[in-house]
Amino acid sequence: MFAADNILRYHIQCVDDICGIFKIKSQRLDGTVYCLSFGDANTICKCECLDWQKWWLPCKHFIAIFAHYPDWQWEKLSPLYRDSPYFSLDEELLNHLQNDPETMPYYQVELHLSKTQAVQHK
Ligand SMILES: [Zn+2]
Repeated sequence: MFAADNILRYHIQCVDDICGIFKIKSQRLDGTVYCLSFGDANTICKCECLDWQKWWLPCKHFIAIFAHYPDWQWEKLSPLYRDSPYFSLDEELLNHLQNDPETMPYYQVELHLSKTQAVQHK
Protein backbone atom coordinates (compact mmCIF):
# COMPACT_ATOMS: atom_id res chain seq x y z
CA MET A 1 0.00 0.00 0.00
CA PHE A 2 1.45 3.33 -1.03
CA ALA A 3 0.13 6.37 0.76
CA ALA A 4 0.66 10.09 0.38
CA ASP A 5 3.23 9.86 3.21
CA ASN A 6 5.55 7.99 0.86
CA ILE A 7 5.60 10.88 -1.59
CA LEU A 8 8.43 13.17 -0.63
CA ARG A 9 8.97 16.71 -1.73
CA TYR A 10 11.70 15.73 -4.19
CA HIS A 11 9.28 13.35 -5.95
CA ILE A 12 7.24 16.39 -6.94
CA GLN A 13 8.08 18.94 -9.59
CA CYS A 14 6.07 22.14 -9.79
CA VAL A 15 5.61 22.79 -13.50
CA ASP A 16 3.44 25.89 -13.25
CA ASP A 17 3.14 27.78 -9.95
CA ILE A 18 0.50 30.15 -11.35
CA CYS A 19 -1.97 27.53 -12.60
CA GLY A 20 -1.03 24.77 -10.17
CA ILE A 21 0.39 22.10 -12.43
CA PHE A 22 2.63 19.45 -10.89
CA LYS A 23 4.43 16.30 -11.97
CA ILE A 24 4.77 13.52 -9.43
CA LYS A 25 6.94 10.41 -9.72
CA SER A 26 5.05 7.17 -9.26
CA GLN A 27 6.08 5.30 -6.10
CA ARG A 28 5.22 1.96 -7.66
CA LEU A 29 6.09 2.21 -11.33
CA ASP A 30 9.65 3.23 -12.18
CA GLY A 31 9.80 5.99 -14.75
CA THR A 32 6.08 6.78 -14.54
CA VAL A 33 5.16 10.38 -13.84
CA TYR A 34 1.65 11.66 -13.16
CA CYS A 35 0.68 15.15 -14.17
CA LEU A 36 -1.76 16.84 -11.82
CA SER A 37 -3.51 20.17 -12.24
CA PHE A 38 -5.68 22.26 -9.92
CA GLY A 39 -7.83 23.58 -12.76
CA ASP A 40 -9.71 26.88 -12.65
CA ALA A 41 -13.21 28.31 -12.89
CA ASN A 42 -13.72 26.67 -16.28
CA THR A 43 -11.48 23.62 -16.10
CA ILE A 44 -11.86 20.86 -13.57
CA CYS A 45 -8.85 19.69 -11.57
CA LYS A 46 -7.38 16.31 -12.45
CA CYS A 47 -4.61 13.79 -11.96
CA GLU A 48 -3.38 11.23 -14.47
CA CYS A 49 -3.34 8.35 -11.99
CA LEU A 50 -5.78 5.45 -12.18
CA ASP A 51 -7.27 6.20 -8.75
CA TRP A 52 -8.37 9.62 -9.90
CA GLN A 53 -9.72 8.32 -13.18
CA LYS A 54 -11.66 5.61 -11.37
CA TRP A 55 -13.00 7.45 -8.31
CA TRP A 56 -12.61 11.19 -8.92
CA LEU A 57 -11.79 11.59 -5.24
CA PRO A 58 -8.68 13.41 -4.02
CA CYS A 59 -5.91 10.87 -4.68
CA LYS A 60 -2.66 10.47 -2.75
CA HIS A 61 -0.99 12.83 -5.23
CA PHE A 62 -3.32 15.70 -4.32
CA ILE A 63 -2.87 14.87 -0.63
CA ALA A 64 0.92 14.96 -1.10
CA ILE A 65 0.71 18.38 -2.77
CA PHE A 66 -1.45 19.65 0.11
CA ALA A 67 1.21 18.33 2.51
CA HIS A 68 4.24 19.77 0.74
CA TYR A 69 2.94 23.00 -0.80
CA PRO A 70 1.22 25.33 1.70
CA ASP A 71 0.15 27.60 -1.16
CA TRP A 72 -1.68 24.78 -2.92
CA GLN A 73 -4.50 23.59 -0.71
CA TRP A 74 -8.09 22.42 -1.07
CA GLU A 75 -9.37 25.99 -1.66
CA LYS A 76 -7.24 26.26 -4.78
CA LEU A 77 -9.00 23.33 -6.47
CA SER A 78 -11.33 24.22 -9.32
CA PRO A 79 -14.68 25.38 -7.89
CA LEU A 80 -16.30 23.02 -10.39
CA TYR A 81 -14.93 20.22 -8.22
CA ARG A 82 -14.59 21.81 -4.77
CA ASP A 83 -18.19 23.02 -4.66
CA SER A 84 -19.61 19.65 -5.66
CA PRO A 85 -22.48 18.50 -3.40
CA TYR A 86 -20.28 15.52 -2.47
CA PHE A 87 -17.93 17.85 -0.60
CA SER A 88 -20.17 20.74 0.45
CA LEU A 89 -22.68 20.96 3.25
CA ASP A 90 -26.13 22.03 2.17
CA GLU A 91 -26.61 25.09 4.40
CA GLU A 92 -30.23 25.43 3.41
CA LEU A 93 -30.99 21.87 4.43
CA LEU A 94 -29.06 22.20 7.69
CA ASN A 95 -31.02 25.32 8.60
CA HIS A 96 -34.22 23.57 7.75
CA LEU A 97 -33.32 20.59 9.99
CA GLN A 98 -32.44 22.91 12.85
CA ASN A 99 -35.69 24.85 12.67
CA ASP A 100 -38.15 22.14 11.76
CA PRO A 101 -39.98 20.88 14.90
CA GLU A 102 -40.26 17.45 13.27
CA THR A 103 -36.54 16.96 12.90
CA MET A 104 -35.20 19.26 15.61
CA PRO A 105 -35.22 16.69 18.44
CA TYR A 106 -33.21 14.26 16.28
CA TYR A 107 -30.87 16.98 15.22
CA GLN A 108 -30.22 17.96 18.83
CA VAL A 109 -29.66 14.35 19.86
CA GLU A 110 -27.13 14.00 17.04
CA LEU A 111 -25.44 17.21 18.10
CA HIS A 112 -25.39 16.10 21.74
CA LEU A 113 -23.92 12.72 20.81
CA SER A 114 -21.21 14.21 18.68
CA LYS A 115 -20.28 16.64 21.47
CA THR A 116 -20.22 13.81 24.03
CA GLN A 117 -18.00 11.72 21.76
CA ALA A 118 -15.72 14.66 21.17
CA VAL A 119 -15.27 15.06 24.94
CA GLN A 120 -14.60 11.33 25.39
CA HIS A 121 -11.83 11.43 22.81
CA LYS A 122 -9.91 14.07 24.72
ZN1 LIG B 1 -3.30 10.95 -8.54
